[in-house]
Amino acid sequence: MKKLSTLCFLICFAISFSQEKYAKYNQTVSSVESNMILKVIPVKDDIYMIEGLGAGMGNIGLFETDDGVIMIDNSFEIIEDLITEAVREVSAKPIKYIINTHYHYDHADGNRAYGAQNIPIIAHHNVRDRQKNETKAYGGLYAALDNFYVPKHEENELPTITFEKELSLHEDNEEISILYFGNGHTDGDAIIKFKKSNVVHTGDSFVLYGIPFIDISNGGSIKGFITNLEMINSVCDENTIIIPGHGGLSNKSEVNNLRLGLKEFYNKTMKGHQNGLSIDQIIETIETNLGNTSGFGEPTEVKRNFIKSILLENNIIVE
Ligand SMILES: [Zn+2]
Repeated sequence: MKKLSTLCFLICFAISFSQEKYAKYNQTVSSVESNMILKVIPVKDDIYMIEGLGAGMGNIGLFETDDGVIMIDNSFEIIEDLITEAVREVSAKPIKYIINTHYHYDHADGNRAYGAQNIPIIAHHNVRDRQKNETKAYGGLYAALDNFYVPKHEENELPTITFEKELSLHEDNEEISILYFGNGHTDGDAIIKFKKSNVVHTGDSFVLYGIPFIDISNGGSIKGFITNLEMINSVCDENTIIIPGHGGLSNKSEVNNLRLGLKEFYNKTMKGHQNGLSIDQIIETIETNLGNTSGFGEPTEVKRNFIKSILLENNIIVE
C-alpha cells in the first residue's frame, strides 16, 4: 500500500511538474483557440493564404493541384478543425503534402494533428531533429518567452520527408522549389518558391511585425537572417508576390527595406560598441524605423534587447 501511494505521489508530481513546465505553451494555445479568426486570401492562380487574425499564428500557404492540396505550415494543433474548414473553402480535395517553413509551434504545431493522419510532411532535417525533443524558446530578446518550453512531438507527428539544401515538387505545370539558405531565423528555415506563378512563401525568414524574432538559442543568427533576406530577394523579381511568415501579402522592396534596416542596426551596433557607446547611445545613432514590435514589450526595450543579441552573437556580453 505504501509503495502504491509513493508511486501515485510520483506520478501526480510528474504530471503537475510537466503542466507547470508547459504552462506558457498551454496558456498560449488555449488563448489561440478562443481568439482566432481565419481569413482565406487568394494570392495568384491556384495559390491561397490563410491568415490568422487576433492570435499571432503564422501564415499558411495553400496550393490546389489536380489531386490534392499542398499546405505550407499548419499553425497550432488546437485549431486543426478551423484550419481544415478554411482549406475546404479552397478545395474539397485531400491534403496531399504539408511543408514546414521551420519548427516553431506557431507554424508547425499542427504536425501533431496532421502527421497523426499520415499526411506526408516535408521539412529541413533540423526541423525533425528539433521537434523530436522538447524545445525552449530564446528568452533573451523577449522576456515574454522566458522559460517557454514546448513539448516534444511523437514519432508519428514528425516530418517524414527531410532535405538538406533543396527539394523540388513537380505538380501539374508548377515547379515548387523548397530552399534552405543557412542559419537565419532558426537552423532549419525553408523558403518555398512557386516558379510558374512567381509566388514565394518565406516563413519567418521575412516578417512584417517590426524587429523580427530571431531564435539564437536554436541555431538562429542575426547576421544569417540579414544574408537570407538578400537570398530571398535573389529568387524574386519586381512582380513576385511574397507571403511573409506574419503580416499581409508583400513584395521584394519590403524585403529590401527590412534588410537595410537590420543591416543598419547591425553595423551601428558593432561600430558603436567599438567606439565605447552604451546601448542607449547606440539606439540614438539608428535612424531606421522598423515600426513597433507589438506583443513583445515596450519598443525601446525590444531595440535594446536586439542590440544586446547582436553583441551576444559576436561573443560580447553586456549587462
Ligand atoms: Zn518562427
